[in-house]
Amino acid sequence: MGILDKIKSILPKRKPPEPVNNVPKEKENIRKTFGVYCNGNHGTSDGKLCPKCTALLTTVMLKIQRCPYGISKPVCDNCETPCFGEDATNNFLDIMKSGRKKMLLSHPLMTIKHKIASIGADYAKMQREKNSSEKQKTQEEKAKSKIANAFKSPKTSSKSKKKKKKK
Ligand SMILES: [Zn+2]
Repeated sequence: MGILDKIKSILPKRKPPEPVNNVPKEKENIRKTFGVYCNGNHGTSDGKLCPKCTALLTTVMLKIQRCPYGISKPVCDNCETPCFGEDATNNFLDIMKSGRKKMLLSHPLMTIKHKIASIGADYAKMQREKNSSEKQKTQEEKAKSKIANAFKSPKTSSKSKKKKKKK
């Protein structure tokens, strides 16, 4: 068994970082923002949507379900690679932008949380990547020193015993 295999056998198996599921919250947020926007601009009421907004929301929900970023996705209106198609993305961004202004009045806490989430998602991803590589390094160093000690200690103790016997 090579030294590398020994290190690998000592190293604790890396747990994958637990992803936070942002999808349900984001869906709820988008649905509410659409409702607020449509009620204010398209003559609908009670959070119900006009056919046009319903169609766009259906597209958006479907795309979120298939988001390549998975459950720890960035919020859609802050995404670098929007997947709704050009027209739908522009409409979506308009609705989210003007809907959010109204949301601030009707759902202030949710709007602020959404804003924090849009900043936090990127930051959390960066931190996760940083932490996991640092953890791995320290674990490898610990394992190396463990092995080094394991090889050293029996030899030195046996030597000292021999010396004592000779005397
Ligand atoms: Zn509408």
